[in-house]
Amino acid sequence: MPEESRAVIIIFGGSGDLASRKLYPALFNLYRRGVLAEHFAVIGTARRPWTDDHYHEVVENAVAGDDVDRDQAKAFAQHFFYQSHDVTDADHYITLKNLAAKLDDQYVTGGNRIFYMAMAPDFFETIASHLKSEHLLTERGFNRLIIEKPFGHDYASAKELNDSLTATFDDDQIFRIDHYLGKEMIQNLLAFRFDNAIFEGVWNKDYIDNIQITLSEAVGVEERAGYYEKAGALRDMVQNHVMQVLSYLTMPKPKTFTANDILTAKDQVFAALKPYDLATAKENFVRAQYASAEVDGDQVLGYRQEEGVAADSQTATFVAGKIMLDMPQWEGVPVYIRTGKRLTRKSTQLTLTFEPVTSPLFNRETGSQPDSLTIYIEPSEGYSLQLNGKALGTGFNIEPDELRYRHDPEAAAAAPEAYERLINNVLEGDQTNFTHWSELSASWRFIDAIQAAWSQETEMPTYPAATMGPQAAFDLLARDGRQWFWQPRRIKLAD
Ligand code: NAD
Repeated sequence: MPEESRAVIIIFGGSGDLASRKLYPALFNLYRRGVLAEHFAVIGTARRPWTDDHYHEVVENAVAGDDVDRDQAKAFAQHFFYQSHDVTDADHYITLKNLAAKLDDQYVTGGNRIFYMAMAPDFFETIASHLKSEHLLTERGFNRLIIEKPFGHDYASAKELNDSLTATFDDDQIFRIDHYLGKEMIQNLLAFRFDNAIFEGVWNKDYIDNIQITLSEAVGVEERAGYYEKAGALRDMVQNHVMQVLSYLTMPKPKTFTANDILTAKDQVFAALKPYDLATAKENFVRAQYASAEVDGDQVLGYRQEEGVAADSQTATFVAGKIMLDMPQWEGVPVYIRTGKRLTRKSTQLTLTFEPVTSPLFNRETGSQPDSLTIYIEPSEGYSLQLNGKALGTGFNIEPDELRYRHDPEAAAAAPEAYERLINNVLEGDQTNFTHWSELSASWRFIDAIQAAWSQETEMPTYPAATMGPQAAFDLLARDGRQWFWQPRRIKLAD
């Protein structure tokens, strides 16, 4: 049995979508595993005037499922308390403080407190400053803050937010969520890279020709237009998830497996991002919006026709780019990235293409291809290694063979979900899987330069829904004599 954690967890935004879809199920799984048992309480706050009884129903519904024991779900929900709360009203924080103190005694939580900001980011600063002014941080146990993305919308706003959080919390008390870091296969990258002799020695510019990172979504903007219109693919996906994946793929070997050493290694990558100016940003980054198209027999709306999207919206739903790192081990190795909505298929996958063999024995005419390694993050989880082999037959033609491994889908489904792992990390005080200010500030500066270049453009290129982006995204690689390794064809799939 794992050691039981003790804490009063205060969730700002307890009636919200994130809380119901992700946080309550994650907390319930921790409860089922015994990480949370008797000594915890959750206070959900939001504007609506709910009773505790109603809140228990919400929590029970959020965790319901075929494999869920209803009595266990009921017992779990009894640990939840609701407080109607306007985050701008100082008096409400006093009530909250008193309730937290009472629950701390009742559940013997050792004065440990976790504050979870699961609300619109406009409120993060107000909440943090009221937590300080109304003295909600405890003296006895730990105080930890979990904060959701987006962390700012550019460098200046991210810095302002960080300054206001660090006025209340020490840096090591702040856990900035990037849920990608909680994914099984992202964590696996460390084991894969640093515990395999066959890869460790070749993971550098001498053997790798280029790296490709694809995070593609098949869905459109759905109900998130209000948020997405202000963000777009660059801020919503590249600044955080793509940059984190990039750092995991290219960081030098950390000295140890501790949070500090991993952060130090990742920091070297963030510090090495070669910045773009206005002209080079335009050359190396492509943006576009999805346009209406027929998909599986249905006419799919274009981005500008979606509800809540301006008819002349300048928000990019697709971005592709080339990133170079100023690090000796990666000199001259381009990292091509792309992400977007309404693409052909949903998948997150990373491909490293190795340098071609220079021997005169084999060449492209014999069928020889550069080797490549693909790591599948989602929806399937695994790897494949494409190698050259002799084709069956009397001649000596070369053809690519593929070694494939996939996690067993049932075992993968039973593994902790990202939020469960991350909340568990917070309970343990482990910062490894969270983003740090040094990383955020470097990635925002990089992103701001691209955004600045785009803001000068008046034309918004488009791509038909269910394709892999505009032609310019293909040209970006073609001009370097390369191509996207993954060029999916549309297959009828429930996303
Ligand atoms: P939501 O709109 O569903 O919920 C917002 C919550 O804030 C509600 O509980 C609402 O009652 C409360 N609230 C709003 N104004 C308030 C006020 N003045 N005083 C008190 N409470 C107030 O939002 P969400 O989708 O749950 O997202 C919350 C945060 O999580 C956002 O930062 C979002 O970017 C982030 N996030 C959400 C998801 C997701 O899947 N929903 C994924 C990643 C990140």
